[in-house]
Amino acid sequence: MSKVIPFNKPYLSGNEVEYIEQSVRSGKISGDGLFSKKCQSFFTEQLGYPSAFLTTSCTDALEMAAILANIAPGDEVIIPSFTFVSTANAFVLRGATIRFADSQHNNPNISVESINELITEKTKVIVPVHYAGVACPMDEIMDLAHKHNLLVVEDAAQSIDSFYRGKTLGTIGQFGAFSFHETKNIISGEGGLLTVNDEKYTRRAEIIREKGTNRTAFFRGDIDKYGWVDLGSSFLPSDLIAAYLYAQLESMEDIQRKRLAIWQRYWDALEPLAKAGGFELPFIPDFATNNAHMFYIVMPNIERRSAFISYLRERGVTAVFHYQSLHASSFFADKHDGRDLIQADRYTNCLVRLPLYYEFNEALQNKTIDVINEFFRG
Ligand SMILES: *Cc1c(COP(=O)(O)O)cnc(C)c1O
Repeated sequence: MSKVIPFNKPYLSGNEVEYIEQSVRSGKISGDGLFSKKCQSFFTEQLGYPSAFLTTSCTDALEMAAILANIAPGDEVIIPSFTFVSTANAFVLRGATIRFADSQHNNPNISVESINELITEKTKVIVPVHYAGVACPMDEIMDLAHKHNLLVVEDAAQSIDSFYRGKTLGTIGQFGAFSFHETKNIISGEGGLLTVNDEKYTRRAEIIREKGTNRTAFFRGDIDKYGWVDLGSSFLPSDLIAAYLYAQLESMEDIQRKRLAIWQRYWDALEPLAKAGGFELPFIPDFATNNAHMFYIVMPNIERRSAFISYLRERGVTAVFHYQSLHASSFFADKHDGRDLIQADRYTNCLVRLPLYYEFNEALQNKTIDVINEFFRG
């Protein structure tokens, strides 16, 4: 029997173990060591991020953003319902009331109309999530934010190496949160990054990340002792994690080239099939780039999707659905305001993701495409 094609397989570029060993030998394996600094300068110097705070996850980066935004009970935060739990949890932990927005009809990203309907005097933050690394309509979102004096936290978990009208995703709102979880393009097992794009928050970000102390300023030599000055937690990763991450960052161009080629082969194979097969392909607006984080299709209904997933599974190919609308979750359903979120529910029920990872070679992809063809052509 041939082996099952997984949905994802974490990629090893080759230098991870050597860098971890170098980190161990450096004698400092806690946060902000040798490789943490290398990663942070990669983000600021090579990728041009205004600032870069490595965190232990994107979840942590979002929690830092919620603290920096001074979220307090009674504040309202607008978030798409079709997203990962952390996008909402980070703000719920600070006491926020979450108002869930719907997705667009041709793309799972947040609908600007839906945001517009939800803004009240209590709104503090909008959290656009760039689903599949494809940009949300950021000019419209930033305009709404300016008009109503709101902050924007970009959930850029899936958005490394992706752009909106030439601007790097994660650097457009006041804050951007990235993930290096092993399911993302660039990985460190668990890992994340907060970008602070407005200088007035940078000092406070340093403090919040270091358990509410001004330890970072102390190590820089700015002050002669450090102490407890604000809220905070332990958000910085061990240097061992950063060592793994740095090896990945050095291979970013190669990883991205490979993923984009896989994505394009899916597109070329499935595009002629979509109409007759009754499914939708990913929609990438003109203002957005594709970072090949994901290749998904949208089926007409949940029955057809379940049949598709089972058909592939029985033939050794793993395809998976994605988020379950948060407004309808068991934690949130009784807190939701009752609005129907039709598009969020449609992606919940109908979206399915195909295998896409570095080692997904042509033979594996051909097999996957053959099985998909068989399903649709009957
Ligand atoms: C992966 C992901 C997260 C969480 O990232 P972690 O690093 O696992 O905390 C948050 N939001 C979105 C949209 C994600 O895809």
